[in-house]
Amino acid sequence: MIEKQILQTLRKVCSDKNKFYSLHEPYFVGNESKYVKECIETGWVSSAGKFVDQFEKDIANFTGVKYAIATVNGTAALHICLLLAGVKPNDEVLSPTLTFVATTNAISYCNATPHFVDSDYETLGINTKKLEKYLEKIAEIKNNTCYNKKTKKIIRAIIPMHTFGHPVDLTHLNKICKKYKITMIEDAAEALGSFYKNKHVGNWGKLSAISFNGNKIITTGGGGIILTNSKKLAKLAKYITTTAKKPHPYEFFHNMIGYNYRLPNINAALGCAQLENINTFLKLKRKLSNQYQKLFSNIKGIKFFNEPKDCKSNFWLNVIILNKANIKLRNSILKITNDNKIMTRPAWTLMHKLPMYKKCPKMNLSIASDLEKRLINIPSNAFLWKK
Ligand SMILES: *Cc1c(COP(=O)(O)O)cnc(C)c1O
Repeated sequence: MIEKQILQTLRKVCSDKNKFYSLHEPYFVGNESKYVKECIETGWVSSAGKFVDQFEKDIANFTGVKYAIATVNGTAALHICLLLAGVKPNDEVLSPTLTFVATTNAISYCNATPHFVDSDYETLGINTKKLEKYLEKIAEIKNNTCYNKKTKKIIRAIIPMHTFGHPVDLTHLNKICKKYKITMIEDAAEALGSFYKNKHVGNWGKLSAISFNGNKIITTGGGGIILTNSKKLAKLAKYITTTAKKPHPYEFFHNMIGYNYRLPNINAALGCAQLENINTFLKLKRKLSNQYQKLFSNIKGIKFFNEPKDCKSNFWLNVIILNKANIKLRNSILKITNDNKIMTRPAWTLMHKLPMYKKCPKMNLSIASDLEKRLINIPSNAFLWKK
């Protein structure tokens, strides 16, 4: 029975029967307490402080993107990326149907319409081949702007999401964006430490967003960051996420609608300490995924998902994919593993099936619909790896 085989295989990694194994959890093994204590002792816990500046510098260094602007969470970062990319009410924004709801909600916050795109079996992200064919059919360019011929709306932007840390085919997507005058914004929320053709993700989009929620590869408790190589956009991002206040010693003057989206210093302190250990986390997570891959290769009827061509993934969440013949077993696999305190989870419900997004424009979504039925996430904590 394949359910038992999967449980036995996971037991080799999650070996303590009395313990609960989550999908992902934070590890504080460095300077976290020291830096947070420093915030408390100096009183710098809130909207300004040295750790925010330090964290922004450290993330820019690590990713190789020139500018980084810390935010209160990843969703807020995405929202601002879209605003600064020029997404306006009534625009359409292309985005995967297989994603976490934050990607799609950020589009709605701009009063724009999500337009759903199918997935790729090789990357689990946007299917660039299908997208190109689809745009040939439905899009036209007028005045350097891409229009949806059917809805007459502007297709302003696209949000590739690097699913579970696996990069999208960014070279091809970049070509499509250039051809169709569509702005790319990367949802790299799950992909800190992931590289495409030796360059960190977040370098391809005009703007990109990363999340530091508690379940991500490093955490600030809650937090996010905007990345961009444009000095002008970086300045504007800082301004708009800090209430758009004109600098002045005592006067309050705001010349546009800003947001209180800044990351508190105490959260940034946690992030600085976490980032000091990211290479350890990445190394361990790669070893864990190699171990899983070996173990699961002995089970017929499932596949362990490995990093796509030209990519170095952070293996944020490991994933197994059931063969089509085993689709019916998914729920019993989820049940037996969770009953045994080993957390497993199916893919997110696809965005075009959610009540608020049912009527949005979409292409044929057959691959995402198929993947949704076959995909299972398994425990992925870096410290699960054992020799
Ligand atoms: C985690 C996540 C976000 C946003 O995260 P926050 O919880 O707001 O920090 C956005 N998109 C994806 C795909 C995510 O996984």
